[in-house]
Amino acid sequence: MDLFDKCKAFTRADETKALGLYPYFHAIEENEGPVVQIEGRKVIMAGSNNYLGLTADPRVKEAASKAVEKYGTGCSGSRYLTGTLDLHVELETRLAKFFGKEDCLLYSTGYQTAQGIIPTLVQRGEYVVSDKDNHACIVAGNLMAAGANALVDGKVQTIIRYKHNDTSHLEAVVSKLPADAPKLIVTDGVFSTSGEIVDLPGMVSIARRHNARILVDDAHAVGVIGKGGRGTASHFGLEKETDMTMGTFSKTFASLGGFVVGDRTVINYLKHHAPALIFSASPTPASVAAALAALDILEKEPHRIDKLMQNARKMRIGLAEMGYRVGEHDSAVVPVIIGDTEKVLRMWRGLFEEGVFVNAFIRPGVPPGMEMLRTSYMASHEDEHLDKALAIFKKVGRSLGVIH
Ligand code: PMP
Repeated sequence: MDLFDKCKAFTRADETKALGLYPYFHAIEENEGPVVQIEGRKVIMAGSNNYLGLTADPRVKEAASKAVEKYGTGCSGSRYLTGTLDLHVELETRLAKFFGKEDCLLYSTGYQTAQGIIPTLVQRGEYVVSDKDNHACIVAGNLMAAGANALVDGKVQTIIRYKHNDTSHLEAVVSKLPADAPKLIVTDGVFSTSGEIVDLPGMVSIARRHNARILVDDAHAVGVIGKGGRGTASHFGLEKETDMTMGTFSKTFASLGGFVVGDRTVINYLKHHAPALIFSASPTPASVAAALAALDILEKEPHRIDKLMQNARKMRIGLAEMGYRVGEHDSAVVPVIIGDTEKVLRMWRGLFEEGVFVNAFIRPGVPPGMEMLRTSYMASHEDEHLDKALAIFKKVGRSLGVIH
């Protein structure tokens, strides 16, 4: 056996391509936000996380260009050493203030943020308690925490998973852990696939009774829910009770990078202990400047959030009325559950050919029966885009027998 045998044996992607049904890695040639060009064809983008439509905003673009002029194209070092710019510090200060927390730390991606926080904070004899449907970056952080502890203890008891958004089960698993052992409960704020909002009030009450701290990954919540887009803690009025909120710049903030806000001592500890921060180059000047400009817009133009939510609701209602099974959660993500891999791929292709781009989520990325088209919306979608998308969903769904 050779290490690469499995790679040679992996033919599924090529087979799907040969059938013309491969939904991944399609290059975008032009991007105006709600409409993009792929393979020479203009299509409505209904699968991006560019929630406020700011990647195309002239103010954000100008801020990024100016930062390149002033600071160059890259930082060539980690925050720890030569990679801290005044821009990084400014964005950290602004975000801490925005979320009403003492301090903030930037990472180079959202993925690295979770991966950087969890194994750094959760150490020997401590536990991470994690929703079964949490994002892959949390799973990666959990595994690193478990791996690091296994090296010391020889056992991997550090990660405990509970049933998705099920506070009774959360309570059941947490109460079995040693009462005085430090614990971290970690969850997506808005779940990335379903658009569901976590039951934070239930979680907060359990955390307080069982010596646990809370980390919420608000990648899909910032700019979407909460007062002025301040995310899940704000949505429930639980800003003080939510110990740490992390997020990404790759969605609402129209850029690239990640952040965590929390107590000054916690941020200071992460700053001096998280390998994902210390051994990785800092976000580029253009990325940070774009995120800062997006934050300005989010603060000054909160009506964009209302438009985003109206757009997502219009699609949720429109698709449900046609007979599609859609997620009912009030966020910017509207999953259309098809329940069959081949139908998902055929729907994806049909929608693309008719002029709508969505994301195909199939196994093993989703559990059996949950194969879906993940759709998500932007504040910059106009009614004409959404009406056209709905008409295309109707035509393609009917022609494939997914709806009647
Ligand atoms: N957390 C969640 C919930 C996400 O959905 C994502 C990205 N899809 C990330 C973190 C990672 O963020 P980034 O793309 O900035 O690495």
